[in-house]
Amino acid sequence: MDLNDLYRDVIVDHNKSPRNFGDLTDADHSAQGFNPLCGDELTVYLNIKDDQITDVRFKGQGCAISIASASLMTEKLKGLSVEDTRQLFGKVHSMLTADAPDIPVDEMGKLAALQGVRAYPSRVKCASLCWHTVIAALDKRATPVSTE
Ligand code: ZN
Repeated sequence: MDLNDLYRDVIVDHNKSPRNFGDLTDADHSAQGFNPLCGDELTVYLNIKDDQITDVRFKGQGCAISIASASLMTEKLKGLSVEDTRQLFGKVHSMLTADAPDIPVDEMGKLAALQGVRAYPSRVKCASLCWHTVIAALDKRATPVSTE
């Protein structure tokens, strides 16, 4: 099995059975994000205690890439500090958009499955939507994030 098959399987799996999907009724942070180009809509919920993400959930609808990306993101964020989350956003963003990104594969884990979208510029916004949304939640931004 080559790496691309492995990555595709991760995305198919997380789209079919998204992790941490649903409401977080006692969330202390949340934000909405839209990707009008594709029609993806996400809401991300967070609970933060002592500067650490103790719980994260998301809901919404969208294409396979946007849902899989959000699912993979929620798996990664639980237990991270706010600062580490912001740094990870920077790394993911560079993985998705840089011409020759220096991807710390060990640190990325399954998130590396998303690097394939770099070949499809219109899908980059699908993959990055949840990340922009989680940063908006951390910043307590009231207006929804749009990728356009
Ligand atoms: Zn999409």
